Amino acid sequence: MSRTFRHGVHPAGHKEATERLPIERMPFVARYTVPLSQHTGAPARPVVAAGRRVTRGETIAEAAGFVSTTLHAPVDGRVVAIAPRPHPSGRLVEAIEIEADPYSPQRFPGNGASAPLDPAALSDEQFVAEVQRAGLVGMGGAAFPTHVKYRLPEGRRIERLIVNGCECEPYLTSDHRLMVERAADVVRGAEIVAARLGVEETVFGVEINKADAIAALERATAGRQRMRVVPLEVKYPQGAEKMLIRAVYGLEVPSGKLPLDVGVLVNNVATMTAIADWFDRRRPLVERVVTVAGPGVRRPSNLLVPVGTPVRAVLEHCGGLDESTREVVMGGPMMGAPLASLDVPVVKGTSGLLAFTEAEARLPTEYTCIKCGRCVEACPQFLNPSRLGRLGRAGRWEEMLAYHAMDCVECGSCSFACPSGIPIVQLIRVAKGALREKAAREKVS
Ligand code: SF4
Ligand code: SF4
Repeated sequence: MSRTFRHGVHPAGHKEATERLPIERMPFVARYTVPLSQHTGAPARPVVAAGRRVTRGETIAEAAGFVSTTLHAPVDGRVVAIAPRPHPSGRLVEAIEIEADPYSPQRFPGNGASAPLDPAALSDEQFVAEVQRAGLVGMGGAAFPTHVKYRLPEGRRIERLIVNGCECEPYLTSDHRLMVERAADVVRGAEIVAARLGVEETVFGVEINKADAIAALERATAGRQRMRVVPLEVKYPQGAEKMLIRAVYGLEVPSGKLPLDVGVLVNNVATMTAIADWFDRRRPLVERVVTVAGPGVRRPSNLLVPVGTPVRAVLEHCGGLDESTREVVMGGPMMGAPLASLDVPVVKGTSGLLAFTEAEARLPTEYTCIKCGRCVEACPQFLNPSRLGRLGRAGRWEEMLAYHAMDCVECGSCSFACPSGIPIVQLIRVAKGALREKAAREKVS
């Protein structure tokens, strides 16, 4: 029997439209908007000004602190503005706008022939700095700067690396295709990280609905003593860090603690290919694979898209939207967010663009809680979502702490299971945001 965690839900996968489609490169467009804030932490600081010519892969903004990361030009072109622009979060965010050079072949400098950088020749600090310089963030959606996870506090160590190939969100197949098409690079990235951090074992955790990805990784890891592929049950949210650690090792990450506290590091498969690209080819993170799918999309695809490409251009490349489209979601349907405008750019954390029609729209009407307990049965963190939602709606955020609101991984399983259409996860998310802001204010004063 394949492994899993307790609770969770089984939404329909809807992956058939794209899971067998090879990754195709999105043609270059005329204009790119690179937000300075597209990762957790401080926005990057621009090192270019309007009018400056840039080349693909060149640094255009530096990390502004340790929890921040570098940004690079996605194309050869010219900076035309640094100004507030619409961001996927719905806010206006400072961004570097680049007009692409229409005559450029848009190759990386050296056309991939740059000498590799040997990670073994670096000190621990240099390795962390290199990963920050590469602009790497967690590419499963949260966009947490990767290098932060690699700087270990004094006296701590990572014994196990789990490479997350679950991709448990419905519709999304970008990680699936990377595992099939770039298995050797997924393994190479993991090999670099494992060697640098001195881990004893690397596990590739993949849901069993991706048999070809499991086979590709098994071939790529054949003969490697400290690596193995672990097939996991198809269940949501199998790819959440804490659930993945439970499923693979049966280990519990205690409330308020991190995977590091149980000696485990979790990295996404796309982050592993990005590590291989930086050290072996000297290519920073300037593009990513995006699944474009959903019933409102005319030509579903897995596209390699430069960061900063307007969402509208991506959708147009896929044949445009059906008239019945009601919303476009960035990310998966469970954790992603509907876009207020199609004039926002693809960012480093954009795993998917999904167009939904009226038929799949979430329940428009909300009913009262019938105390059925389905949200409690669904919650992989063993919380009481119904109670948390009620407290959240009443603005009783402080009280939510006693019910472990901060342990909520915002997976949305509770909302999915709720027959009354109560937006439980949204209520918890708002409360968590307010509690975090309050804690930050208290720290400053
Ligand atoms: S309460 Fe949080 S962790 Fe539990 S199911 Fe809801 S969103 Fe997921
Ligand atoms: S699933 Fe919905 S209706 Fe049922 S107990 Fe939870 S909040 Fe109430």
